[in-house]
Amino acid sequence: MAEAAIVSLESYRQESLEQKFRERLHKELDKWLDLLENAMDDREKLSGLWGITEGIRKQREALIGTVAREWIEKEYASYLDQEHANCPVCGRWLKRQDVCQRTLETMIGQITIHRPYFYCSVCRHGFYPLDEALNLSSRRKQYDVQEAAADLAKEMPYEKASQLFTKLSGIPMSDHLMHEVTNAAGDELNVLDVSPTLDEIAEKIQEVSVGRKWRPIMVLAIDGADVATRPESAKGSGRGRKKHRARRARWKGEWREAKGFRIYLVDDERIVHLLSWHQVQDQWELAASLKQVKEAGLIDETLVRLCVIADGSQWIWNQVKALFPTAHEILDFYHCSGYIHEVASNQYMDNPLKAMEWVEATMARLFCGEADKVIWGLERMKPRDTPSRQSINRCCRYLKKHLDRIDYGSHRKGGYPIGSGGIESAHRFICHARLKRSGAWWYVENSNRILALRCADYNGTFERVFQRYVQKDQVSRIT
Ligand SMILES: [Zn+2]
Repeated sequence: MAEAAIVSLESYRQESLEQKFRERLHKELDKWLDLLENAMDDREKLSGLWGITEGIRKQREALIGTVAREWIEKEYASYLDQEHANCPVCGRWLKRQDVCQRTLETMIGQITIHRPYFYCSVCRHGFYPLDEALNLSSRRKQYDVQEAAADLAKEMPYEKASQLFTKLSGIPMSDHLMHEVTNAAGDELNVLDVSPTLDEIAEKIQEVSVGRKWRPIMVLAIDGADVATRPESAKGSGRGRKKHRARRARWKGEWREAKGFRIYLVDDERIVHLLSWHQVQDQWELAASLKQVKEAGLIDETLVRLCVIADGSQWIWNQVKALFPTAHEILDFYHCSGYIHEVASNQYMDNPLKAMEWVEATMARLFCGEADKVIWGLERMKPRDTPSRQSINRCCRYLKKHLDRIDYGSHRKGGYPIGSGGIESAHRFICHARLKRSGAWWYVENSNRILALRCADYNGTFERVFQRYVQKDQVSRIT
């Protein structure tokens, strides 16, 4: 009986809180409607529906911000009138020092809160329990704004991103802040941070395996793309134009390779993307991230038939042999054609038609798995001059060295792809679309942060990656 009375008292308290919350909001809505009416009377340029929506849009922040503030006051009531708190460092029982105002910028507008402040004079530690309960960012612009900003800035230059963001959201956001937030979100990410989980990959493998006699083919394509980089020494203090020019004159840009790989499944004519990872890095760093992927079990050769497609770089094949000794190795058909073209343009210099016909016939033979016949033909070719002889020798050496990898006839019979078209398109999308712009020279660490965020986006893990940043940021704020 007594228990029932307590329960009903509690539910009565809840109801009256809810009641008061609604009453307050109804009053705020009335106030807002007055505000809106005045604003609509002053309306100028736009007429019709656009005029109405634009008028409301401009005022919406005042209303929605109030709703959010009231909601916080309802849900976090205990934090708002908190008189005492334990110091999070030494555990001392502290009395409230003050109630301070703070304005938060969020995607739904500004929210102003008033919350208790505590200070431990022994630890010299001040804190706001409500801020911690709400997981607030120490920046004025909160995480929802930061995520949207990083999302946009990974797609386009900061200046453009800042203009668009401000226009679409109504939240002023400088390109400098865009840059800062994006770099913070993309900082210290490794391949596993941006990878789908083991379960997500297993699920995709399962989908492609249905109704198949053989394990599906998983392709690991490795390749590089050039990125214009600038040295760390180009950084300096001050933002003056003169200083900038002076610095610019001192540093020299360098083209560096964004090395990367893409892992996907072949489902007949369709590619099922699993994972992309591209960074401006050397071969050892690339190998280390491949090793991480392997050790995390993301490439499970009991579930798939693994094939590796790459160009002729020896270091790639050395790494592949060490990490995936049983993988099916394929030399990218299109990279291979470069050597054939070189022979043709030297040998049939005066006869472009003959050069073209020879390339077509030779590529067709390679396509059919007749690499040995191509080599036989090359060895019997009469070079017209020294450059021609050199290119013939180069081509022969290349084909002989990769003989097993260019058995395109049997590759195709096994259902394997013979070109790394899949990674070329990933490269264009991930690297070129954002990094290759005229006059844009990147600091390596900044380009890698952008690349990591773009890979995450491509892999479908962007939101997860951003949440990771939020958690890290929270930890660093508290400690
Ligand atoms: Zn303390």
